[in-house]
Formats: sequence, C-alpha cells, structure tokens
Amino acid sequence: MGRVYLTGAGPGDIELLTVKALRLVREADVIIYDRLANPEILKEAKDGCEFIYVGKEDSHHTLPQEEINEIIYQSALQYDTVVRLKGGDPLVFGRGGEEAIYLKERGVKFEFIPGITSAIAVPEYAGIPVTHRGVTVSFRVVTGHESKNKSHSQIPWENYKTDDTIIFLMGLHRLEYICNRLIEIGKPSDYPVAVISRGTTKDAQTVVGTLDNIYEKAKDLPTPALIIVGQVVKLREQLDWFE
Ligand code: SAH
Repeated sequence: MGRVYLTGAGPGDIELLTVKALRLVREADVIIYDRLANPEILKEAKDGCEFIYVGKEDSHHTLPQEEINEIIYQSALQYDTVVRLKGGDPLVFGRGGEEAIYLKERGVKFEFIPGITSAIAVPEYAGIPVTHRGVTVSFRVVTGHESKNKSHSQIPWENYKTDDTIIFLMGLHRLEYICNRLIEIGKPSDYPVAVISRGTTKDAQTVVGTLDNIYEKAKDLPTPALIIVGQVVKLREQLDWFE
C-alpha cells in the first residue's frame, strides 16, 4: 500500500512550488493533477512516472469528486508514492480534506503538503497586499461559487460591512451578483475592487474598478480569476511590479 501526498502546486508561477513539493514530484510513481496545477511541474517527474489528469473547471468538475477519490485510492494500491497535485494550497477550496477522509476510511496513509495559495499570492503579484497597516487589519477568503438563491446562501454577507479585505475565489461568473450583494449590505458603489486573471503567470491581467463598474470591465477576462474587494486595491497604484 502506497502513501498519498496531497500536494499544493502553488498559484501558477512554477517557482512558487515548495522545496518539499518539488522533492515529492521528483520521487512520485504517479501524479494525479488538476487543471490549475501548472503542467510545467510535471517535467520534473522521474522517467516512467505515470500522469493522470483529473482536470477541474471552475463551475463544473470534469470528473465527479467521488471518481477522483477512487482514482487516488486505486493508485495507492498500485504504487508506493502517489502525488495528488492541486493548484495553490490543497485545503483552500481544494477538496483535499475530502480526499484525505476517503483514503483514511480505506486505511491509506496520507500527508498534506501545503502550497502557496492563489488567494494571497495572486493579489501580491498584482501589487495588492491582502493586509496593510493603517488600511485593513484582516482578510477573508470566500467562495464565489454558491447558490444564487439568497435564502440558501451560506455566506454571511451582513458581516462584510467592515473594511476587511475580501477575496472571492471561483467567483468570476458571479461577479455582478457579488458586487450587487455588497452594495445591498451598504458598501459604497465606488468601493475598490480588482479582478486578477491568471495571476503569477506570463498571462496575468489585472483590472481595477469599483463595485458598480467592475462587472462591465472584467466580465470577459479568462479564468482562473479571483476578485479582491477592499481599500488595499488602491495600493496597486504604488505597488504594481509584475505586469
Ligand atoms: N486551492 C486553490 C484554490 C482552488 S479554487 C488555491 O489555494 O489557490 C480555484 C480558484 O482559485 C479559481 O476559480 C480562482 O478564483 C482562483 N485561482 C487559482 N489560481 C489562480 C490564478 N493563477 N489567478 C487567479 N485566480 C486563481
């Protein structure tokens, strides 16, 4: 029975892979990877390593999670070192916890290998710090992918009246809805927002706007993209360095 490493691949820039993740990629007998994990990383694998693509899209999974769980489990029966490579960090909206529970229930040993999450690194490459002294004292990372039906919303919108930075992952297709909800709870319509597409890569694009105009400006950006709401967005005027 092999061991499964639920491994973060970082946000895109291949050099943002951790030393530990790189070692495991080099040692792996099989690598099960997502759409969001930079495929360049696979070049580091040893000869004969098997690759299994279980690509995930933002709004639909090309493979149901149950099937992915089973593929990882079957790989552990067959190989010694199984690397499950995921974009960013495996436990930030990465379903790494679900995969680990599935393995645990079947007696398979696993390890979590943290990765640099897009939630922090993508704004950072865009020159937007998620916290900044005198501007904001906290940040939240929120799923943008949830029921549109307000009565089923698990997001505590009312708590978002403060000046905390809010980072929405998987939210581009709900951008208009998200901005409207924030205006509804009392944020000014000229409140700063940025959408960052393909952050930390050579295709990175950042669009800056306000709650009432960002949808028109950014709706056609390619995915993956995240939304960042907060006064920290203004710091990009001074801190933009990458694009
Ligand atoms: N576990 C991942 C997040 C998975 S959810 C992490 O820690 O980064 C997938 C969402 O992450 C995407 O819908 C997008 O909102 C965001 N994302 C991931 N990589 C990104 C990138 N390079 N640029 C912009 N957003 C990104």
